[in-house]
Amino acid sequence: MDLIKDGWFTELSSMWPGQAASLEVDELLYHKKSKYQDVMAFRSKHYGNVLVLDGVIQCSERDEFAYQEMMANLPLYSHPCPKKVLIIGGGDGGVAREVVRHPLVEEVVQCEIDEDVINVAKEFLPGMAKGFYSPKMTLHVGDGFEFMLQNQDSFDVIITDSSDPVGPAESLFQEPYYQLLKSALKSDGVLCSQGECQWLHLDLIKEMRTFCKKLFPVVDYAYTCVPSYSSGQIGFMLCSKDPETNFKIPEEILSNEEVEDMEFKYYNSDVHKAAFVLPEFARKALSDA
Ligand code: SAM
Repeated sequence: MDLIKDGWFTELSSMWPGQAASLEVDELLYHKKSKYQDVMAFRSKHYGNVLVLDGVIQCSERDEFAYQEMMANLPLYSHPCPKKVLIIGGGDGGVAREVVRHPLVEEVVQCEIDEDVINVAKEFLPGMAKGFYSPKMTLHVGDGFEFMLQNQDSFDVIITDSSDPVGPAESLFQEPYYQLLKSALKSDGVLCSQGECQWLHLDLIKEMRTFCKKLFPVVDYAYTCVPSYSSGQIGFMLCSKDPETNFKIPEEILSNEEVEDMEFKYYNSDVHKAAFVLPEFARKALSDA
């Protein structure tokens, strides 16, 4: 299938039937099939460089911070002392960039399945991939599901920054994976996973929330707004092993000065609290899940 036509990339997918967003392309930078997926990067006219996997936009330089800052900082600021963090997926390096700069984080382990994505990010998304070069980082190339089988009681925070549940990330949206996450977390550990979009995948979110509630005493759902993602919105499933966790109230409330020192462009403590306030159709659908 031609992903770029007449100078426009169009994101067609059965995951969002009857709709498709387009970005105007300046130059195709990379397009190859890796062992796992179709990997493409292009320079767009207005969104900077864009990474596309299996035809689906993963990030654009213009708005990536809205996703990476929230995915990393919602769980980090919900844990009293997030020293050791695991990232599954996240091959563009953006979540790693956010996690390594958190002052309490000492050690970050990451497991990404596709080395080609890491290399493409290093070449064409250097602002994101810089997380990989931190001395706090140990990077493994392999399947996140397999990697989880080898870890017990090890991490304060686990972040699953996966692509959508079609292709290599399918297992990362299912209950057996969450059982493994539970065993890999310390007794007060928290997790945050890519939780899809309320406008498109409410049934999947409901299903995930239902099995998460069987496994964890605290489960919550938050979201952020990312213009280049389908329907402009993406969510996060957050779970804690500690019954005292309240995801809606950050452990540390940052002053405007602290937010500026951290150079956040999206995250602040008010945005953290507001991210859990859902529009009525989603609140209602998820309240009985
Ligand atoms: N924020 C993005 C989104 O949802 O659009 C996700 C970005 S990140 C690039 C997703 C990464 O997950 C990809 O690099 C992909 O290779 C990786 N991935 C998919 N399945 C995986 C698995 N089973 N184990 C580890 N990484 C996986």
